[in-house]
Amino acid sequence: MSNPTETLEFQAEARQLLQLMVHSIYSNKDIFLRELISNASDALDKLRLESLVNKELEVDTSDLHITIEADREQRTLTVRDNGIGMSRDEVVALIGTIAKSGTGELLRKLKESKDAGASQELIGQFGVGFYSTFMVADRVVLVTRRAGQTEGVRWESAGEGTYEISAVADAPQGTSVTLHLKPADTEDNLFDYADEWKIREIVKQYSDFIAWPIRMSVERPGENDETTTEVQTLNSMKALWARSRDEVAQDEYNEFYKHVARDWADPLETIHMKAEGTFEYEALLFIPSHAPADLFMREGRRGVQLYVKRVFIMDDCDALMPDYLRFVKGVVDAHDLSLNISREILQQDRQIRIVRRRLVKKVLTTIKEMQAKEPQRYRTLWTEFGRAIKEGLLDDVDNRETLLDLISVASTHDPEEPTTLRGYVERMKDGQSDIYYVTGESRSMIENSPHMEAFRAKGYEVLLLTDPVDEVWVEQVGQYDGKPLQSIAKGQVDLDGGDDAEQEPEREQQRKDFADLLSLLGEQLAGEVKEVRLSSRLTTSPACIVGDDQDLTPTLEKLYRAMGQELPQIKRILELNPGHPLVTGLREAHSAGADPAALAETAELIYGMALLAEGGELKDPARFTRLLADRLARTL
Ligand code: ADP
Ligand code: MG
Repeated sequence: MSNPTETLEFQAEARQLLQLMVHSIYSNKDIFLRELISNASDALDKLRLESLVNKELEVDTSDLHITIEADREQRTLTVRDNGIGMSRDEVVALIGTIAKSGTGELLRKLKESKDAGASQELIGQFGVGFYSTFMVADRVVLVTRRAGQTEGVRWESAGEGTYEISAVADAPQGTSVTLHLKPADTEDNLFDYADEWKIREIVKQYSDFIAWPIRMSVERPGENDETTTEVQTLNSMKALWARSRDEVAQDEYNEFYKHVARDWADPLETIHMKAEGTFEYEALLFIPSHAPADLFMREGRRGVQLYVKRVFIMDDCDALMPDYLRFVKGVVDAHDLSLNISREILQQDRQIRIVRRRLVKKVLTTIKEMQAKEPQRYRTLWTEFGRAIKEGLLDDVDNRETLLDLISVASTHDPEEPTTLRGYVERMKDGQSDIYYVTGESRSMIENSPHMEAFRAKGYEVLLLTDPVDEVWVEQVGQYDGKPLQSIAKGQVDLDGGDDAEQEPEREQQRKDFADLLSLLGEQLAGEVKEVRLSSRLTTSPACIVGDDQDLTPTLEKLYRAMGQELPQIKRILELNPGHPLVTGLREAHSAGADPAALAETAELIYGMALLAEGGELKDPARFTRLLADRLARTL
């Protein structure tokens, strides 16, 4: 029987990443073994699970294990498992391409960064799994047979753009990966990856907790100077979550985290809990130190792993973690569930809901403690995951109070340091009843918007909210600590508390003086705004545009329209600054009987300027510039 070998090309991204591995930009090469063992362990989990679910599958699961074989003479190292294996198509799809989201982005950043340290960090955050073998090997051979199939597959590559693939008749079920080690360069390789002690060291350090035995044949001096061979298990196989906290070193937690989260960086926080009683479970959860590239992608990986009495049941168990905490990784081992439990049943299960509620509480209190005691770490957490956590303000009404306390937002109080809502409330002025905020695209844009003028002049602090989700939660939450959250670009503002009787007669007079002009401008701008009125929020600008309290903001309006929602035109209100020379001049011109067409043009210009000042878009920029240019020409 002919057995053709095909040569195939790696996907472009895969090729680029392999290049990086071949030229090993990552200094800690030891971790290639951790990656291989981690994959083997996953393959064993998958086989056990499939054999439980699929009774047709005739496989022997009585001795699932991982074997490491080292050959010092040949300089090869093989990691073998009798797990699920891969079909030919799977080998092509899983090993020939990188499905990880964010690959393109990572490669772009790597290309841009000239600094070796930064590149290492990027690769470390991304992780490259199987490809890390090419840091230490110049040729890798993978032989695999999927459980339930008769024919196996052989895959071989030097990591240089192509790989060879062929069928093999007699492959054992499972996968073996053989590394042809690069020559041990004398300078920094004081050891060889085929050395028994080195392998032991790496397994102990990185893979001790793996739930399957990792075996290796070792030679021991026997009687009469003969050497005998014995098979040893290198790892303790203790499930970390089943041990008590004081028995486990942080390093062990960290390595376990890297295995479950497929991360190369240490976690930011470790949460280990045990519940006894009617529904027993253990949870070992981690908050990563950086956000994955797919945090805001619909198809991103989310949630934690579910085990039942040490048996792996499923990845990404979304029933155990709400969506807004999707960045939390780890393991939950629930003792009293059936091994065949499905995702659908889990979602309904009352016990699981109770567990989930407790896990969420624990994660949130952990974050709260971090906020109180370790501001620096909390800051990292908030930078990486704050946007996701804020989604909880909409989804998780039970924990809303706690979540509101966790929020960290920019504020006019300090150009560098963000504030909490609590901090804002503590600094509120005497007699101030509302928490003022403004939303917009960027800090600089909203900080300098006309709406801010009176607040700045009178020394009121304003929260600067620039995240699209901010618009939504401030609306829905409405208040904090009994104090309304009030947009400075909406409704009427009355910074003098409304009881400033001295100013009232003066205002009354102003209203009378401007009444005619305002109604005229209102008519002329009727297509754009629903009202023209005098403002008490301006000190230096001639005008600004504000919304009614119940109206959608322009950003939300844009958002809803982008999502395809039909909305009626939302008109806002033009407010004029009665102290500005342009506005007083306009009133004088009006009472002196100026040409209504010229007044209309001025009104249009003022409206356009107010739009631009808040970062908005003009409907007809060409017309606006023409009107403005004509005006300027006349002033020369
Ligand atoms: P990751 O483990 O993060 O998915 P890897 O590069 O380590 O990425 O592996 C890619 C994929 O190849 C794995 O997800 C798995 O589907 C498959 N794979 C790798 N090693 C094995 C193995 N020993 N047995 C079965 N499948 C494997
Ligand atoms: Mg892997």
